[in-house]
Amino acid sequence: MSRVLIVGAGHAGATLAGLLRQAGHRGPVELFGDEVDLPYHRPPLSKKFAQGELEQWLRPAEFYREQDITLRLGEHVVALDTAGRRVHTASGDAHDYDHLVLATGAAPRRLALPGTDLAGVVSLRTLADARILRKCVVERRALVIVGGGYIGLEVAAVARANGVNVTVLEREERVLARVASPRLSEILAGHHRGRGTRIVTGVRLTGLTGRDGRVSGAVLEDGTEIPCEAVLIGVGAEPRDELAAAAGLHCDHGVVVDGHARTSDPHVLAIGDVTRRPGFVRLESIPSATEQARQAVATITGGAPNPAEVPWFWSDQFDLKLKIAGLVPAEPATVVRGDPASGRFALFHLDGGALTAVESANSPAEFMAGKKFLASGTRLDPVRLADPATPLRDAVA
Ligand code: FAD
Repeated sequence: MSRVLIVGAGHAGATLAGLLRQAGHRGPVELFGDEVDLPYHRPPLSKKFAQGELEQWLRPAEFYREQDITLRLGEHVVALDTAGRRVHTASGDAHDYDHLVLATGAAPRRLALPGTDLAGVVSLRTLADARILRKCVVERRALVIVGGGYIGLEVAAVARANGVNVTVLEREERVLARVASPRLSEILAGHHRGRGTRIVTGVRLTGLTGRDGRVSGAVLEDGTEIPCEAVLIGVGAEPRDELAAAAGLHCDHGVVVDGHARTSDPHVLAIGDVTRRPGFVRLESIPSATEQARQAVATITGGAPNPAEVPWFWSDQFDLKLKIAGLVPAEPATVVRGDPASGRFALFHLDGGALTAVESANSPAEFMAGKKFLASGTRLDPVRLADPATPLRDAVA
């Protein structure tokens, strides 16, 4: 009966612990997490934080007891001894393993600029961060959001809907430049601006100013200062791969894994946001963390490997329920189905007739069909696809 230690009690780690028991693994399962809260859902932290719906546990505390999963919360794992198959914690304990799974996630990227340590400057990854942000929004403090990525735009939508004065500063020429198509960026920027959010693109922040220790302004490269009372830094996340790197595991901006969650060490697996998968940019999403948790179960228990899944993601911004599948190519040929102005549309991105990604808003049927087409590599006819009166099954080329 092998002993499985999981480092990181976030979405990937906690999901894996439950799935191991479901697959019949009887050996000890220990879950180490340096946060003190029970494992929780992170997506609500940027979507529902103003309503106070923050503490959404993945499983109730009894689940871990009933499943005989040892939860070691508030325990930071500081070192990994791969030769001795042991981890060391900050409290000085050592724990042996047969299989170690690194599920340490990612941490918000920091900006080394003056003023980022002032009170009122936050980043968003944990429940503790979301509680601070909630207070800023409830108190209607003028908010500057540095970074027009998904988290920044989700927070902008919630803050604006609560009457906050919001400015989004984006270094690139468009919001979501790294993750969305140019068309989706344009539609979303319009949606936010139409609801009173100021979005400034192509600008670089040079620092934050303060008064009595609290942030009071965001300074741009050209010297402009935008007055504010709170700042969210949302400029992406870095994989927490320091344990793996120090132990000599192959890392390349993330722990490098194969399609079975295996690392370069035969007894160490890695899953979730900390990983870099073959052929992919780093995927930071719940579906990806869950898929890799299943891969790890198959590897540990010797079960049948799971077929590869189409990467997908979701986001909520105002009334738009966005669902995105596939990876948007650098220069997509985009077919628009539906009317973006109505808030119900899907963008299908083709490459020589083959679908590479679908970005949808309030269109679950288009999203599901797109995901299936992506999985099967189906070729589509752009003219029929663009006509909402033509059923999607008839858009197959
Ligand atoms: P995490 O959930 O970050 O868990 C890692 C855990 O490991 C953390 O608790 C960390 O403290 C702990 N840890 C790290 N190092 C150590 C150590 N040395 N010792 C002990 N513990 C350690 N994804 C979607 O698909 N849809 C969304 O809408 C969406 N919205 C999001 C909104 C926000 C605000 C954020 C932050 C993320 C969102 N994501 C979303 C991404 C999603 O939450 C992540 O992809 C997912 O949480 C990854 O799970 P993980 O277990 O790899 O990492």
